Amino acid sequence: MVSIEIRSTKKEKLKAKKRVAILGSTGSVGKQAVEVVENLKDEIEVVALSANTNIQELENQILKFIPEAVWVTDKKSAEKLRNNLKKLPKKITEKLNNIKIFSEEEGVKKLFLEVPIDLVLNAIVGLGGLVPTIRSLEMGIDIALANKESIVLAGDLVMGIKRIKGVKIIPVDSEHSAIFQCLIGRKKEDIDKIILTASGGPFFRNKPDELGDVTVEQAISHPMWKMGKKISVDSATLMNKGFEVIEAHYLFSIEPHKIKVIIHPEAIVHSMVQFKDSSIIAQLGPTDMKIPIQYAITYPKMFKSQVEELNLAQLGKLTFFEPDIKAFHALKLTYFALELKKKYPTVMAIADEIAVEAFLEGKIKFTDITKIIEKVMNKFEGCTDPHLEAYFQAINWAKDTTNQIIDKIYKK
Ligand code: MG
Repeated sequence: MVSIEIRSTKKEKLKAKKRVAILGSTGSVGKQAVEVVENLKDEIEVVALSANTNIQELENQILKFIPEAVWVTDKKSAEKLRNNLKKLPKKITEKLNNIKIFSEEEGVKKLFLEVPIDLVLNAIVGLGGLVPTIRSLEMGIDIALANKESIVLAGDLVMGIKRIKGVKIIPVDSEHSAIFQCLIGRKKEDIDKIILTASGGPFFRNKPDELGDVTVEQAISHPMWKMGKKISVDSATLMNKGFEVIEAHYLFSIEPHKIKVIIHPEAIVHSMVQFKDSSIIAQLGPTDMKIPIQYAITYPKMFKSQVEELNLAQLGKLTFFEPDIKAFHALKLTYFALELKKKYPTVMAIADEIAVEAFLEGKIKFTDITKIIEKVMNKFEGCTDPHLEAYFQAINWAKDTTNQIIDKIYKK
């Protein structure tokens, strides 16, 4: 009798779907994640969703997945969502009857406490993704991390909690997903360097003095990847690649000088690892975020994707270039921040967030972005306090300082 019982429990376990929460589900990565999981209905159950203010899109997703809970940024959005859901036909509201709606920063913690979750996909854009990452790790929930700010802003803190809790962080960023895959079954002492590929954005062939008049339209029209506005500008300045160097340093515990950036405009090689015998393992594939998103969600399993396969013969050749550090100052600032640590990466990332916003609003020039970041970093004196509050102090200091510098330029 006993053995039969054990067998049936095992069978149930085998059949159980992975319970996934998608945070930032109405953003660029979030929407693509929704498409991915729609095709994995036998494997994945979406038990929670979260959005900032795009309540309409969130509502569509709620009807699609009937999750157990949602989390929205503020009380106003929560109220709006509650009212909208009440207005739906009775047949649907009955199904949604027990849906929990959380809001505000503490809401994400409540969500993790009340809803059993196997994996959190954190696809929140920017600073807002940090606290959800920390709460998820504290609760011992594995994370598929698309929010690179969590690592860039608070790498020491995040990796510290990860180690204590023994949870996994599976990278979603295409480069880090590639490195993660290249390292499977490899020994750390055999790694010579990590080679991060960068498509170079729209301007990598331009000289520094040609970039002064770049328009918002030009900066956000990324040649290869379909992305949000902020990350498109970060790709154009190469600051995004700088953030990825920081991300790689923390995720794979590799010293900064062993992380190289190479421009690869075709964006087919998603990154590489060079080993001590000079051999290189690269991960290649179609330029489609749905692949790393799916890999992170289903890891360690792999499933067929909906992405069209790559035709290498049609592609013909792949090219690689050394990045022009003079034109793209962001990379230099990155290594500087990583060498110093002491929350210099935090301050750099926040200064970038504010400066990019000002650029998108037409307040400053494209070339002002990295100049402003450097000014802010020069004013910073460093901070070694390991607590989350200290990170927020550095964040607030960076916000104020960056805004002051921008105001001075804007008023000119
Ligand atoms: Mg990337």
